[in-house]
Amino acid sequence: MSDRKKIPRVALPADARIDTLAVREGLPATPWGENSEALFLTSSFVHPDAETAARRFANEEEAFVYSRFSNPTVMMMERRLAALEGTEACLATSSGMAAIMLLLMGLLKSGDHVVCSRSVFGSTIKLLQGEFGKFGVQSTFVAQTELEAWRAAIKPNTKLLFAETPTNPLTEVCDIAALAEIAHAAGALLAVDNCFATPALQRPTLLGADFIIHSGTKYLDGQGRVIAGAICATEKYIDEVFMPVQRSAGMSLSPFNAWVVLKGLETLSIRMQAQGARAAELARWLESQPQIAQVFYPGLKSHPQHELAMRQQGGQGGAVVSFIVRASGSAGADARKAAFHVIDQTKICSITANLGDTKTTITHPASTSHGRLSEEQRQAAGITQGLIRVAVGLEDIEDIKADLARGLDSL
Ligand SMILES: *Cc1c(COP(=O)(O)O)cnc(C)c1O
Repeated sequence: MSDRKKIPRVALPADARIDTLAVREGLPATPWGENSEALFLTSSFVHPDAETAARRFANEEEAFVYSRFSNPTVMMMERRLAALEGTEACLATSSGMAAIMLLLMGLLKSGDHVVCSRSVFGSTIKLLQGEFGKFGVQSTFVAQTELEAWRAAIKPNTKLLFAETPTNPLTEVCDIAALAEIAHAAGALLAVDNCFATPALQRPTLLGADFIIHSGTKYLDGQGRVIAGAICATEKYIDEVFMPVQRSAGMSLSPFNAWVVLKGLETLSIRMQAQGARAAELARWLESQPQIAQVFYPGLKSHPQHELAMRQQGGQGGAVVSFIVRASGSAGADARKAAFHVIDQTKICSITANLGDTKTTITHPASTSHGRLSEEQRQAAGITQGLIRVAVGLEDIEDIKADLARGLDSL
């Protein structure tokens, strides 16, 4: 397929750097010469003649045909995200979960086995255990940071290892290069959900991962506007494995949402730097507060994988900070009351489980994102009743400290 006629690329110097690609990569402008990328709200595309249409439908010529599988605005987003991740190609999807669905549908069949971190996004676990379990795909869930547990879980039919780093909400970091080695030694592949770090901090395929999963809903959009997702991989995997599934299954990203994410990517690296710097400042301050029992943030020396995180994430900790409020009694009910008190005393932070927004969000994982788990499962995962997660935005961090101090000081 590589000698087929391709859609042209933007004329950029071959050695253009990441920050340049983040604002320039995409498609050449239309003959009108627009400077900001155009939004192509069209379901189908017109062909000059029947012969050309036939060639395009037979995939002998790359062209825009139908927006379920090809659209210029969506392609601009895909090319830009691929450039940032350092992969040959990218396929956009209607949500982060759709990207994971597409990954699993493309790679697995009944009888296959997956090894997955038990700290990944809750819906990922549900999708693997529930839907894919129903279709005969087996999964084993292992401790995120224990390489031995990953190795021990491998079976002869293991096809895929799935990790997410750092995790939500405890920011556990796993060693991507070591997991890639374990996967490849077993003839399996490694997928990494790069939602929390984003390519601004970490580029998993350069560390040996085979696939990168994104929820574009989070930092890629960056302003909490749309639901979106993507898979980044080699051109061969995108063209031959994932695109055919997308063509039949239709988990397509709307051009409008793609345009929002495309523009979000332009500011991704400066947002991640600015929000990460604020989060680091907040984490240090929280650690010095007497009402707080523990702070989880990869940028802190007290974080169990601090050194690995700094090496793997370009010296940055990301923008999510979690902490446990010290309760007066030791019972879970007291801890929950204390956590709710701190959350309810805020006047700036948004009480929402979403993250990756320029607006700081605050959430109580045990009763929201992890509310469907049993108390026993939550304890095993470390999601205690006193735990609060803050996804730091772009407000002045002194205002966010004051917002949290209000509740902490009156405990
Ligand atoms: C939000 C999230 C997802 C799912 O993304 P949606 O866009 O909400 O479908 C997957 N993985 C991680 C780590 C997430 O935070």
